[in-house]
Amino acid sequence: MDFTLPEETIAIRDMVRDFSKKEIEPLAARVDKEDFFPHELFKKMGRLGILGITIPEEYGGSGLDYLTQGIILEEISYYSGSIGLSYGAHSNLVADNINRNGNDGQKEKYLPDLITGEKMGSLCLTEPSGGSDALGSMKTTYRKEDGHYVINGSKTFITNAPVADTFLVYSRNGNSFSAFLVEKADGVETPKWIDKMGMRGSPTGEVYFNNVKIPGDRLMRTEGDGKKIIYEGLNAERAVLAFGPLGIARRALDEAIAYSNQREQFGTKIGNFQLIQEKIAYMFSRLEASKLLAYEAAIMTKDKIADPSYAASSIMIASETATQIAKDALQIFGGYGYTSDFPLERLVRDAILYEIGAGTTEIRKIIIAKALLKR
Ligand SMILES: Cc1cc2nc3c(=O)[nH]c(=O)nc-3n(C[C@H](O)[C@H](O)[C@H](O)COP(=O)(O)OP(=O)(O)OC[C@H]3O[C@@H](n4cnc5c(N)ncnc54)[C@H](O)[C@@H]3O)c2cc1C
Repeated sequence: MDFTLPEETIAIRDMVRDFSKKEIEPLAARVDKEDFFPHELFKKMGRLGILGITIPEEYGGSGLDYLTQGIILEEISYYSGSIGLSYGAHSNLVADNINRNGNDGQKEKYLPDLITGEKMGSLCLTEPSGGSDALGSMKTTYRKEDGHYVINGSKTFITNAPVADTFLVYSRNGNSFSAFLVEKADGVETPKWIDKMGMRGSPTGEVYFNNVKIPGDRLMRTEGDGKKIIYEGLNAERAVLAFGPLGIARRALDEAIAYSNQREQFGTKIGNFQLIQEKIAYMFSRLEASKLLAYEAAIMTKDKIADPSYAASSIMIASETATQIAKDALQIFGGYGYTSDFPLERLVRDAILYEIGAGTTEIRKIIIAKALLKR
């Protein structure tokens, strides 16, 4: 597989790196401490042209691939894991999903405002009674009424929900699962902003649908296509979100190297101790190995699921790697790493989310093993 990045992707990566250093780095600590969502920043990202990176130009996007979207997420996550997560949910879970599954009218109506960042998007799958078994235990229902659909139920752990205008909602009618585009103005209630240990500033919320009536043209694809949309969406989501933990891990490694070259104990730099060197060697090797798999999975992921084991492996390894690297970096910082004066403890808290969101590590293992045993 050829991992040479196209010139356009390199230029976008460098542009996002500069933007993130200038615009995200100064905000990152406040975003975490105050659980503050910087909506203006998303409008700036819209002006930069990165919110619709996988969307065709006719809708205001850039028509590029998942690898480029992943690399953007990595650059943002280097400075703020939580802004990265909100970026991923908005631009991949919602905008890219609408592009893949929406009809022309839906794309024309919803994509332009999502691409400029004027409106924020949320993908609603998980419910209070079911995350891993999202389909089997889904209780949110829809029914048809006078050419409209009426949705009832609730969702939880939904990224961006407290600030979202556009909701991509999965619901069921008996054994038929369908996906709908629902607007906040339709009567969606988002009363709760969930307090979290990490990814603070990426708003996570509960979403309630109490007889929410939407026009018939908000159905995505056809009735009963929800299952397919969910599985294809999760595959693309995993392939792209794997780059979030890579960004967090790269930041942790850079911090650890800089500190090892500066901090002295026993009359010498701590980087001269072989136990510190071993950590750095493993951090680098694990990060590079995870990165190669993430590149491979992102390149392989197209509209349809070629093989779900690649995207699942990619995010499984990247997230476990990020947690380990962030913890090792914190250890290298000693007591200072444990304080909020340095970003290490935030990196650990943020990294752990990627072992849970987009399907847990356990569920990823099941997906990988099932795909391999079927071959
Ligand atoms: C910050 C954050 C953001 C999120 N954003 C979104 C979002 O935007 N949209 C959305 O729809 N969801 C979102 N989620 C939800 C997320 O996808 C779920 O939390 C996740 O899928 C796990 O579901 P659960 O929390 O219900 O855990 P459960 O499914 O109850 O799992 C509990 C434990 O049991 C394990 N387990 C479950 N089944 C099995 C099995 N068969 N074999 C072995 N172990 C098993 C799990 O791995 C886990 O360790 C988000 C979650 C968080 C924390």
